[in-house]
Amino acid sequence: MVLLHADADAFFASVEQRDDPRLRGRPMVVAHEVVACPSYEARALGIHAGMATRMVTRRWPEVLVVGYRGEAYEEASRALFEVFHRYTPLVEPGSIEEAFLDVTDRDRGDPAGMAAALRRTARAEVGLPVSVGVGRTKLMAKLASRRAKPDGLVVVDPDTEARVRPRLHLDDLWGVGPTTYEKLHAAGLFVVSDLYGWDEERLKGVVSTAMARRLLSIAAGTDDATVRLPGPRRSVSATRSLPATRTRSKVAAVLDECIGRAVQRVTGLDDPPRLPARVEVVVRYDDGVQVLQRGALSVPTLDLGALTALSHDLLDRTGFEWDGRGVTMVGLTLPLPVAPTAPPAPTP
Ligand SMILES: [Mg+2]
Repeated sequence: MVLLHADADAFFASVEQRDDPRLRGRPMVVAHEVVACPSYEARALGIHAGMATRMVTRRWPEVLVVGYRGEAYEEASRALFEVFHRYTPLVEPGSIEEAFLDVTDRDRGDPAGMAAALRRTARAEVGLPVSVGVGRTKLMAKLASRRAKPDGLVVVDPDTEARVRPRLHLDDLWGVGPTTYEKLHAAGLFVVSDLYGWDEERLKGVVSTAMARRLLSIAAGTDDATVRLPGPRRSVSATRSLPATRTRSKVAAVLDECIGRAVQRVTGLDDPPRLPARVEVVVRYDDGVQVLQRGALSVPTLDLGALTALSHDLLDRTGFEWDGRGVTMVGLTLPLPVAPTAPPAPTP
């Protein structure tokens, strides 16, 4: 097995720095009330996601703050995954900006060369730094990509794996939280090699059955290496941010644009397209609070007229015009049925 874990670096911040040259090379954060994503320049100062934005700007006045642009990140994600799919159809998304790729038998025996090509392509065509880890299992590939950051490539070959695996700290493994680690710690288990000689029955006395199995598979080197393809998308969303406003025509125009984009995306997913039966409209106010309204269509449809009528009705129900706060984001979600929509019954 040859797996790549490809992960865009400081994704939101990198998209902002790509789109605005004034942000490049500077400490900046994508943030509302709290920091969603600091640039690497900001991380170097000690800033991390989840910090209160006000505290950050008070302590580091040189840090630039930009708002969250969901639509720009969605578009960058789409372009990134388009690049991933050129190297293999076996792509398992971990989030909008990272994925496992199974390139077994596709890498011509040169996984490092393939990973480097992927990084170059993402940089040239999408304009983003993507770190890549190469390994035999998901754990190894992901540990490698973490080591590769920022903007690097790390290959864990079999020799490296044989050396590294026994020394992995148990609290560095995904899904091992502080509670679990404390229990392992109390049992004298700190690194993977401490698990040698343990069996499931004994380890179950320390942690849950699922955790015991997972840890023992990691110790045996038989941990997960299966790239799972995502199921059909359960919904399609389109959002756009706008300068804070209560003007009805401005908000409605942004909603119309979102409807158009969402319909286009649904149409591109399946042939024939699955038809939404419900619509969700969300508005976000300038204090970060979001309000969601849901409604049902009289029949499942992608008809623009029907979707527009219901969406505007839902927008009215948010009461944004009388709320007093400014609207800074409008979004639309179309939940989709799992199965393709049956063709209309023939008329007798
Ligand atoms: Mg990332």
